[in-house]
Amino acid sequence: MKKIFATVVTIFFLTAAFASVLASSYVGNAKTKKFHYADCSMVGKMNPANKVYMNTRDEAINAGYVPCKRCNP
Ligand SMILES: [Zn+2]
Repeated sequence: MKKIFATVVTIFFLTAAFASVLASSYVGNAKTKKFHYADCSMVGKMNPANKVYMNTRDEAINAGYVPCKRCNP
């Protein structure tokens, strides 16, 4: 019984961790006011200080960000 509980807890935490990674799927640049898919090559070149993590496209648009021309989010 204890083993089943431990397994359930482990699965729960793995799912939660995975969901939080998926949650911020967009990254905005506070300096250029452009936003990208989190896996866009521009994100890697971005200054970490300018990175703004966003969960949805609407969130980025509402915050005044414009989509990147390279990754077209
Ligand atoms: Zn991009």
